Amino acid sequence: MIIHLKNSVADAEVEKIARQLDAFHIRKPDYHVLVTPSALKEVPPEYENLVEASFVFPNDMQLSSAEYFSETREININGVKIGGSNNNTMVIGGPCSVESEEQITQSAELMKELGISTLRAGCYKPRTSPYSFQGMGLEGLKLLDKMRSKYGLNIITEVRDTTHVDEVIEYADIVQIGAKAMYDQGILRRCGKTDKPILLKRGFGTNLQEFVQAAEFILSGGNDNVILCERGIRTFETKTRFTLDLCGVAYLKEYTNLPIILDPSHALGYRYGVPDLSRACTAMGIEGLLIEVHPDPSVAKSDAAQQLDHDMFRELMTTLRPVASAIGRTII
Ligand code: PEP
Ligand code: MN
Repeated sequence: MIIHLKNSVADAEVEKIARQLDAFHIRKPDYHVLVTPSALKEVPPEYENLVEASFVFPNDMQLSSAEYFSETREININGVKIGGSNNNTMVIGGPCSVESEEQITQSAELMKELGISTLRAGCYKPRTSPYSFQGMGLEGLKLLDKMRSKYGLNIITEVRDTTHVDEVIEYADIVQIGAKAMYDQGILRRCGKTDKPILLKRGFGTNLQEFVQAAEFILSGGNDNVILCERGIRTFETKTRFTLDLCGVAYLKEYTNLPIILDPSHALGYRYGVPDLSRACTAMGIEGLLIEVHPDPSVAKSDAAQQLDHDMFRELMTTLRPVASAIGRTII
């Protein structure tokens, strides 16, 4: 249950009630929010006179629920806005990993050339083998920082584990929690204590309820800026790397208030279909796309098979804009 308590209730009193109700306390400028387990269905009578509003839910999808508020949350990333009444589709483009200054500079220049606001690249890579390239770490974050200052781009980069979560929060404009890190309670809880936007990717064996509950860990910590990312789930199919769950996206659009970004690159795993999928995803009316693109995919140190080259990406952008405008959206 979510209970809004009047602003006039003292913080210490709210903390006491929170303890009694097993609730999270989130301080808003004009009221207090208490989030209790969803099993609570009524405000205890002794607190009724302190309550401004209350909301009951069938399960622990609460702060993220469209029944709590029906509009998609607005997320403002240094002036770049998605959700709310902004009909923007934010393209996040860039390589899988930062590999060198030259490579990431070429990537940043491509985003700048195409009027794209957000550059992606990982520095801490959650690889399936310890012998594969693991990312440039802090050195990579510093290169991304340089790209932000030089080209005025927003930067999204991923956190792999809690050893560097503070570092990533410091350097990123959007913190990406990857599919494998989605269950990491340390990361989720730490990300609840910043107000940096968080892009939470769906684990590839995660059902929708578990996915949304992972988002609730961040939201209940007090961070309102959570974006969900569908990047494909594992099914019986082996011809493609994963299966992009667009039915799941339709569900999340209907039942949650969280902005959604689709990642066709990691879902398919091969570059040939990424342009078609990007257009299909855009037509669904989501808040953004994450597309991997590399100056020379043949030498990429991670996810080489799925990254577009720069010409493919340029061509894709020209066909994406009319698809977006056909449903009243703008690619940013
Ligand atoms: C990535 O974005 O490069 C990545 C590792 O994605 P995922 O966590 O979805 O596999
Ligand atoms: Mn990748």
